[in-house]
Amino acid sequence: MLKKWLHKVLPGKSGRTRAHKEVVPFAEHRISADMLSFAAEKVVRRLHNEGFEAYVVGGAVRDLLLGIEPKDFDVATDATPEQVRKIFRRSRIIGRRFQIVHVMVGPETIEVTTFRGGGKVQHNEHGRIMKDNTYGSMEEDAMRRDFTCNALYYDPIRQQITDFHHGVADIRARRLVMIGDPAARYQEDPVRVLRAVRLSAKLGFEVERETAAPVAEYAGRLKQEPVARLFDEIMKLLFSGHALQCLTQLERLGVAADIHPILTALQQAGKGGQNIVTLALRNTDERLRADKSVSVGFVLAAVMWPQLENYWQRNLAAGLKPTPALTQAVNELRDIEKGWGLPQRFSATMREIWQLQPQFANRRGARPHRLIAQPRFRAAYDFLLLRAETGSADPDLAQWWTAFQHADDETRLLMSAKQEQESGGEGGEKRKRRRKPRKKKESSNHAV
Ligand code: ATP
Ligand code: MG
Repeated sequence: MLKKWLHKVLPGKSGRTRAHKEVVPFAEHRISADMLSFAAEKVVRRLHNEGFEAYVVGGAVRDLLLGIEPKDFDVATDATPEQVRKIFRRSRIIGRRFQIVHVMVGPETIEVTTFRGGGKVQHNEHGRIMKDNTYGSMEEDAMRRDFTCNALYYDPIRQQITDFHHGVADIRARRLVMIGDPAARYQEDPVRVLRAVRLSAKLGFEVERETAAPVAEYAGRLKQEPVARLFDEIMKLLFSGHALQCLTQLERLGVAADIHPILTALQQAGKGGQNIVTLALRNTDERLRADKSVSVGFVLAAVMWPQLENYWQRNLAAGLKPTPALTQAVNELRDIEKGWGLPQRFSATMREIWQLQPQFANRRGARPHRLIAQPRFRAAYDFLLLRAETGSADPDLAQWWTAFQHADDETRLLMSAKQEQESGGEGGEKRKRRRKPRKKKESSNHAV
């Protein structure tokens, strides 16, 4: 208690509790206006011309200082959302808890926020911020941001950065430092725990001791966050381009298990050596860094596979055949999955990939030709490769499918016929199917 009180009165050991304005000139930061996107520069200039203050703020300034290409550009201004809305014809006000304006310039969208003040913030009984729409000065706005590296204001006209919390020095020292009293800031908004995980992973920063210390205590409060916001943040971890490093940071910072099933699955995967989850995340990281597309449904299929596979194995052990055993497992998980905030479009892909897995074992007659013509074949095949690499599927089976896929029509027919011969005579179901030579249907199938 006394420690907390002292913390508020005295500047923290690292001096981050009190603002200290510093203006960093171009010679030191080397960010020129042409490093901004066309839209970001245009929005700032236009607001200036209308007599308002406007700065590029947040992750973009941080990333430019680090030589990373910014993902998006945010602008902070003293104009109110209504004033911003009036200046830009293509703009709309969004958000409830914090009102922001989306300004569209060509294909870009710039998020414009009005400087926030600390005045009439409403907290709930757990100290969490519920409503926060009071406006303030740039200095107050800086105080409300999460980490020192995210509280930098770049003015492209004067080409200078305003830094209230030693953000530039922290970026140079590559450390992530919470502004203010870290425990209080996690309490106000527990999502900052996941932001600390993601940003330290993405930037390769060390989380400063005082910023890291309260994480374990406050991470549990994430459970009370609206599930949609939690799901969004987890998606940002998965698709940050640094998902594997995020697993390390979750462990290192002591984020509790049982916050969200997807997070729990990630934490468990992070503890083992290479497994299907870490392999999928490594591929995702590589693809994102190479600017290639990634599929949310596919990655989620991998993340949740170990749990699904447990159900599948249990159903197999109970005597069900592979396909019904898997269907039952998918349905069992579907019931649990309801509270996860998973949008339907992702869960549908995830399930389709799973449902096709047992079908790879059926390589006789018309079946492989039918399977390869399925719209989800490619994703399901890629998934089979992941399984084969991590001991969840037979590598010979995966190899057969690789060969089958690349073979011409004639070779494919030979390959499936060979399977037919090799498996001749076993199993009632197999025999029944074997009696029907589906040659005609086959060729129409794989022509699709
Ligand atoms: P990136 O865009 O690379 O993921 P970012 O830091 O820009 O990282 P955004 O979500 O775009 O993240 O947020 C923009 C800025 O808004 C941040 O830099 C930070 O200043 C502020 N911010 C975002 N979320 C919070 C939060 N939960 N608490 C306090 N400030 C926040
Ligand atoms: Mg950003």
